[in-house]
Amino acid sequence: MTPVSAYTPDSGDPTFDVESYDLDLTYRVRTNRLEGRALLNAVAALPTDRVRLDLVGLRAATVRVDGDAVAFRQDARALHLTLPTPLAPGERFSMDVSYAGSPRPRRSRWGTLGWEELADGALVAAQPIGAPTWFPCNDRPDDRATYRVTLASESPYRPLATGVPVAEGRRGRLVSRTFELSAPTPTYLVAAHVGRFDTTRIEIPGVAAELVHPPHLAGSAARAFAPLPRMIAVFEDVFGPYPQERCTMVVTSDVLEIPLEAQGMALFGANHLDLSFERLIAHEVAHQWVGNSVGLHDWSDIWLNEGFACYAEWLWSERSGGSTADAHAAVHWARVAAEPADLILSDPGPVAMFDDRVYKRGALTLHALRRTVGDEAFFAFLRRWTTAHRHQLVGSDDLRLAVSESFGERESALLHRWIDTAALPPLP
Ligand SMILES: [Zn+2]
Repeated sequence: MTPVSAYTPDSGDPTFDVESYDLDLTYRVRTNRLEGRALLNAVAALPTDRVRLDLVGLRAATVRVDGDAVAFRQDARALHLTLPTPLAPGERFSMDVSYAGSPRPRRSRWGTLGWEELADGALVAAQPIGAPTWFPCNDRPDDRATYRVTLASESPYRPLATGVPVAEGRRGRLVSRTFELSAPTPTYLVAAHVGRFDTTRIEIPGVAAELVHPPHLAGSAARAFAPLPRMIAVFEDVFGPYPQERCTMVVTSDVLEIPLEAQGMALFGANHLDLSFERLIAHEVAHQWVGNSVGLHDWSDIWLNEGFACYAEWLWSERSGGSTADAHAAVHWARVAAEPADLILSDPGPVAMFDDRVYKRGALTLHALRRTVGDEAFFAFLRRWTTAHRHQLVGSDDLRLAVSESFGERESALLHRWIDTAALPPLP
């Protein structure tokens, strides 16, 4: 049985898994109105006669299960459907939901999340529980599905979504684009953006890369993302071949607090084009391997996303003529040491999930392992990790096992001290 995460107890339904989402959406920028139809192909994981779909701030009009209209109830967080016939584990069923409303971010302990209206367009920033603000879903990090998203918006706005663009058309004054995402993807890594976008191709061998930006930011965006081909080359050396179908870097005309990764995509604010943010570009690009391809069973292991992506920042720095990982580690060890020693990396609790110590202590953990086993063994290990778990789910237990199999008791004890105890170990 798959438990719903204790970190997001009000999200997700463990009784079924979604295998594919087909979303057909129309978004009108002028009035901030979203109309959608979501077709979900699912499979029962437990015996069930009712299911729950997360949906926040949008109103469902009709719900069909396997083609037949069914009774449903909607509250502030979800749709609750009664199935026409009970399902046994392994049985497949489809859900078809028509819905509409004025999408807006939902409030959470991690700030406002989800579909957000901008000064001139809209974006999605969903991690961890913002996806239900734009489509009905089983909002769990461990339920990975494929997606087909058709998004229409008024010209001259250009709709964009995660995935490979497969079709483009017009519906009256609306421009419609369809994207297919075949990599297994959790709801929080699916994104849609609407803006007055231009697209610039970026030449990277073997990677379909592009920069999507408002026309007036073309120059500064091109400068900021000039290191992207070298970044991808460095991370391919560290983590193995680029694991996504696309590498789309999106820049909005609005200022954003933080950049955010999506599957094969990352989102940056107009304020992130300054060269001082190069490390954040490296961080989001690294997530394509760690977090997006190698994914989480449960939010409690968020350090496997953020610690690894933070360490990738240090590796990029080291390999592009900046400070070494050793130097970064020394600085951040001292900073973490000055903070309260009350965080367990392998289970920081929902409040501290995005605490900076999760990022930095996570990166320090990897650096401690590197200093213990040496560069050659460490980098071979890192590459085996991202290759063996490509587009699969992991937890800290998988890392414990990999460390114990690849190395030995000394390294297992070191990992335990770094991730399972609150006191900060010294750097080896
Ligand atoms: Zn991150």
